[in-house]
Amino acid sequence: LDLRDEDLEELQELGQGNGGSVKKVRHIPSGVVMAKKIVLIDAKPAVRKQILRELQIMYNCHSEYIISFHGAYISDPNICICMEFGDKGSFDGIYKKIGAIDIDVVAIVAMSVLEGLIYLYDVHRIIHRDIKPSNILCNSKGQVKICDFGVSGELINSIADTFVGTSTYMSPERIQGAQYTVKSDVWSLGISLIELALGRFPFADSESDDSDLSDLEHTLSPGRPISMSAKRQAKEDKKKKDRRKSKGVSLQGGGMTMSILELLQHIVNEPAPRLTPEDRYPVESNNFIEACLYKDPEVRKAPKELVAHAWIQETLDSRPDMETWASTF
Ligand code: ADP
Ligand code: MG
Repeated sequence: LDLRDEDLEELQELGQGNGGSVKKVRHIPSGVVMAKKIVLIDAKPAVRKQILRELQIMYNCHSEYIISFHGAYISDPNICICMEFGDKGSFDGIYKKIGAIDIDVVAIVAMSVLEGLIYLYDVHRIIHRDIKPSNILCNSKGQVKICDFGVSGELINSIADTFVGTSTYMSPERIQGAQYTVKSDVWSLGISLIELALGRFPFADSESDDSDLSDLEHTLSPGRPISMSAKRQAKEDKKKKDRRKSKGVSLQGGGMTMSILELLQHIVNEPAPRLTPEDRYPVESNNFIEACLYKDPEVRKAPKELVAHAWIQETLDSRPDMETWASTF
């Protein structure tokens, strides 16, 4: 498809993210309904063209666990990325609508994300870098697919310049500045699965006598990037901004204040979250989550080991009907 603004009819606003907004559109000449992501890029034309070239890799991504690509084009000053529309939305929206998600469905989400990660890495040597519920989509056939993976190094850089990429799904080693690996995606998956199964962001009330933390998700909006820049030259300036920003998201009440930076320290220093109360979830599910959330990326399991896990395999054997499930909301 040869895509351009004039041929795309806007049907609905789907959401706002870090880098821009996503709209449901119809490509008038073909009738195809798609999701159009508009990313504002503050970069030179040459860089924009480079990004566009890098995005072409997505034409070659074919997997039932990956949102497919219809094309991308420059619409100054934006880059528009058109992709398959997930008509049941993303899993953050789904659990906010229907509440905590059934553990068998969570296992299917886990399997689908892992298969997607394995495909991206084995076939294209791509690491996703942004696994979180809003990047896991569902359609009315009950299929689960991932989107928004880091295909374009230039795009990642450009967005990092403007917005910065620290999110609350980030692994301890990433928070501490280590390189991205597939294992970092596995951590983010573990956090996301807990969030779906509990129906809330897991770093909310992890300490029993720390009720202040339970307000965290409202204040901090999980998945939104927070104020930590990787850019060194802007560091000093940034520090001040960070201080201001972390004040902005501080929690008041009970005499305790928790900033974003403290949350990141919490992720690094405290035991990883689990599915609790334990007796409400299959033992195997917590065993799987634990394997995703080892602090040490060397010990943490790889996607291929995790798809073979008993929790996943037993759930697959019971053949949960995802299409019927998806028809309930
Ligand atoms: P984020 O993923 O950080 O929420 P995005 O800009 O990537 O920000 O997406 C905004 C919202 O648009 C998402 O939360 C998701 O619900 C929705 N969305 C994104 N891509 C699609 C798609 N291909 N199909 C349906 N909904 C989508
Ligand atoms: Mg997204």
